[in-house]
Amino acid sequence: MSDRARFVVIGGGAIGCGVAFQLAEAGITDVLMLEKESTLCAVTSAQAAGLVGQVRSSVERTRLAMWSVATFSRLERESEVKPGWRQTGSLRIAQTPERVREFHHLADIARRSGLEVTLLDREAAAGMWPELDFRPARAILWCPSDGYLQPADLVAAYRHEASRRGVRFRTGVGVTGFREEKGRITGVETEGGTIACEYAVNAAGAHGYHIARLAGLELPVVPVRHHYLVTTPTDWLRPDMPVLRLPDATLYARAEMRALLLGGWEPRALSLDPRGFGLADPLPPIEEDWPVLANFMEQFRPFAGSLADRPVRRVFTGWPTFTPDGRFVIGESSRVPGFVCAVGCNAHGVSGSAGIGRHLVESLFEKEPSPYVKSLSPDRFARGFDWPEAERAARRVLETYYAIGH
Ligand SMILES: Cc1cc2nc3c(=O)[nH]c(=O)nc-3n(C[C@H](O)[C@H](O)[C@H](O)COP(=O)(O)OP(=O)(O)OC[C@H]3O[C@@H](n4cnc5c(N)ncnc54)[C@H](O)[C@@H]3O)c2cc1C
Repeated sequence: MSDRARFVVIGGGAIGCGVAFQLAEAGITDVLMLEKESTLCAVTSAQAAGLVGQVRSSVERTRLAMWSVATFSRLERESEVKPGWRQTGSLRIAQTPERVREFHHLADIARRSGLEVTLLDREAAAGMWPELDFRPARAILWCPSDGYLQPADLVAAYRHEASRRGVRFRTGVGVTGFREEKGRITGVETEGGTIACEYAVNAAGAHGYHIARLAGLELPVVPVRHHYLVTTPTDWLRPDMPVLRLPDATLYARAEMRALLLGGWEPRALSLDPRGFGLADPLPPIEEDWPVLANFMEQFRPFAGSLADRPVRRVFTGWPTFTPDGRFVIGESSRVPGFVCAVGCNAHGVSGSAGIGRHLVESLFEKEPSPYVKSLSPDRFARGFDWPEAERAARRVLETYYAIGH
């Protein structure tokens, strides 16, 4: 294989495909995506629950999520290949006075971002999830434009729209190295040959650390285990019911067709030191952790109504990556020009994918990217870091995912 492309995107998960799509949208169509597996969306993205939440603790993060929602809505309306976007809305439930105060603060951030949210009473919420017990709720925040999608459908839509504009996709091709001239990336090496390029984009998910190492960068992109369960079907759940977030119980839930999908953030997370395995190694398999999953069910019990003790049909699990500061790593490295990052998904890489792609385009082509976009640069780790501390901090991001102020 001897080839060239202006951009080579490494990794065909939600983030890599979101980046390819946003590059194409920006008129940059000389793009080649390389995915080492035989299909796109084969690794972490395939496991995601697909929740898309826009209520965030800063205006910038809210707007990034809003950008994703606007993109999903447009693709659903206009693309021949639909992302399966279900704009069900979401209900966020507070059980403590501190959480109620946080909801007022989040509502204020949402309004400043231009995102519609309302506080609902229990009766209104019960109208949307009839068999759930809302008595423990002290406040309920409703975001009507939230929802969920199936990651494989989203990736198919990105691929369709990007290909239509000229982007090329190759599966079954693993990246093994980089070619550099005077410190700048000039090509990507694969098992099948070298591809000359101007920019290489690292969207390799849990192998993002290893791809960065090949380019001479040390990045704290830490895989941390995440999982959720799906129960057997019920008589009354419907796929158009709103997504639920129960931050005091550290849980999220939605209807998966007629079944309940229930996931959460455990207090003692399990991480991998990415230096302990190689680029060519598969990710370590994950055993079902029944004590943690049973605890999700237990935490859900006060709300569960007729869903309590429902049998589990399937468990989904994977290694999304976390960074010590809980922020995405987006943009070109000033130490290795031409090496661009789109890693560190912090467990919202499917929902964030369109916004991440857009921020990547902004970081490269806007004369003056926003301070927020600049703050996501891989350069923030250039002074080095302590690995055990970075891994601990990355785990902590998962453990405190629904903590107040996260
Ligand atoms: C159980 C679970 C539930 C989740 N729920 C949600 C959710 O509700 N909402 C949400 O937004 N996010 C969720 N996430 C997180 C989400 O899955 C990730 O943020 C997202 O999938 C990251 O996408 P990615 O493209 O970076 O990674 P991946 O999907 O892993 O893609 C990276 C790709 O890079 C490829 N690759 C690696 N090395 C090479 C190489 N050398 N050459 C070529 N290709 C290579 C891999 O094969 C892989 O396909 C969840 C994750 C899990 C595990």
